[in-house]
Amino acid sequence: MGDLLLSTPLFHWTKKTYPNQKLGLICRKGLGQPLLELGLIDFYWEIEKGNQKTYQNVIQELKKFEINQLISPHTSLRTALMVAQIKAHHKISFKKIWNFIFFQNRVSFEKQWPESIRLLKLIENRNPELQQNFNNLRPSEEYILKNETHDLLPAPSWADPGFCIDQNRVESKKQQYQINEKYRFNNAVALFPGSVWATKMWKKEKFIELGQSLHAKGFQVVIMGGPEEKTLGEEVARQIPGALQLCGKTNVLESLLLLTNVKLVIGNDSSSSHMAALMNRPVVSFFGPTVLHFGYRPWTGKVKVFEVNSLNCRPCGSHGPKVCPLGHHKCMQDLNITLQDLQPFLN
Ligand code: SF4
Repeated sequence: MGDLLLSTPLFHWTKKTYPNQKLGLICRKGLGQPLLELGLIDFYWEIEKGNQKTYQNVIQELKKFEINQLISPHTSLRTALMVAQIKAHHKISFKKIWNFIFFQNRVSFEKQWPESIRLLKLIENRNPELQQNFNNLRPSEEYILKNETHDLLPAPSWADPGFCIDQNRVESKKQQYQINEKYRFNNAVALFPGSVWATKMWKKEKFIELGQSLHAKGFQVVIMGGPEEKTLGEEVARQIPGALQLCGKTNVLESLLLLTNVKLVIGNDSSSSHMAALMNRPVVSFFGPTVLHFGYRPWTGKVKVFEVNSLNCRPCGSHGPKVCPLGHHKCMQDLNITLQDLQPFLN
């Protein structure tokens, strides 16, 4: 889901570049509806990984449409073969040595940029305003350099996911789903202790300790995550007085909407940080086996990233392995933060 949320600026600028066209999205099951409801896309078609029938259904469905621009950020052969079966006036993707037969327009993949910028490069030369914005970008390395208080340079406003979302729409969806009635918090901090990738998770005990400190300072702690993180969420919530355990209890849209009612989001290098960025909330993120150079930093204005810089073994995988290959998991074991570190976001 994180990758999709980092595509929000691409959705925004694609709509802006082709104002008379509708924007459709092909995505994994469960992710289309929240983006549709937030007004980021106009249609969606969902596929299930490994379920060939769902791919064929989408291809058949797309035959009903006249497609002007087909933009494919994915560069796998499987995606290219799917694209080959879809008719479109222009097909755009990142350049691979072999994919010239599938796409007329191919753009260099510039890995030094944060992911949202890399994605926007797919349509950069189609919109003069976007081109002008690109001319004013800071050098790429500045976006992954932290200062001594762990802050990162904010994303430029025109490419910030939070800027791409219509606040009136957010408010109307909050009313529709009664978010303020169900989750009206005075002083809340959301903790996301889980991740799909086991080695990307900060230690459960440390989340508990941090949650207890937040509670002692008068904050309502809210534990969030997907249904598969429910057991972890319950273990963490049980040891933090007054904590509200919501893992598995809210769907993606409700989770996004209720984040607008919290002061700060704290989680691992995972979709939680991109959810916070989309909803324009300050975010604190823990990086273990992954590094900022990969391009997946929380892409927003108020962000702190904590990591253990002294380890030579980092990074050890593009997502982080299932278990630490060295057995000690020091990238997370040795990562400590205090309330003092979070203070600017808690005031
Ligand atoms: S090898 Fe290093 S970076 Fe990878 S999980 Fe272990 S401690 Fe973390």
